[in-house]
Amino acid sequence: MAQLQLRVRSANGAEETSYFDRTPDRCPICHVAVTPTEMGVTILVEAEGDGFPVTERLLRCPNAKCRRLFIARYGRSRPQTVTYFLSSCVPAELQAIQQSEIISKVSPDFCSIYEEASKAEQYGLLLVAGPGYRKALEFLIKDFIIGQLTETDAAKLAVEKAKVEKTLLGTCIKDYVKSEQIKEIAKRAAWLGNDETHYVRKWEDKDLKDLKKLISLTLHWIEVETLTLEVIADMPEGKP
Ligand SMILES: [Zn+2]
Repeated sequence: MAQLQLRVRSANGAEETSYFDRTPDRCPICHVAVTPTEMGVTILVEAEGDGFPVTERLLRCPNAKCRRLFIARYGRSRPQTVTYFLSSCVPAELQAIQQSEIISKVSPDFCSIYEEASKAEQYGLLLVAGPGYRKALEFLIKDFIIGQLTETDAAKLAVEKAKVEKTLLGTCIKDYVKSEQIKEIAKRAAWLGNDETHYVRKWEDKDLKDLKKLISLTLHWIEVETLTLEVIADMPEGKP
């Protein structure tokens, strides 16, 4: 069952062979997918309290632009199991999130909030990351809707804007989003971070992944929609 055998050194210098489930496939510093170089140093960290042993394995990133050392941490779910399972890699550097030019124009607030939510997620602060992503989605959809308002009278436009800002996200999507594709995807994203449940819901990893997938689809459709409108505005009629 175990794919990997390594010599593990204890604090007293003794060595023994242990089993490991896998080698990390991504560098925690440059975030590039790599097969790390084995440095031949794996240490047993003496378990405290309940006695769940932890090992730390020294690896090096082979990416020519990085080449940094990092430590893969492995743990055992029970002291008596044989295999160590990869739990984390340190030091983990935060991955910057770059949104497209179109999205940066449609909603700068979305970009800032999404970036903060992503940082929270990378720090493992999932209870903050979930509502953060949901808030980012709300700004994205509402800014997109406001950007598409066609009212030319400034006073009337301000009233329409204020109305969108005050309306619940789900209702906004139903009433204002014209594109059927954006509507269907955004509706599902809003369900995941529903207005009614968002104070009681526990954000778990799976919810986050689903929500992020839906946000990414919403972003994609908004880009397609915006580009399409730009092309039509640029070339309103065919040449004779
Ligand atoms: Zn690297």
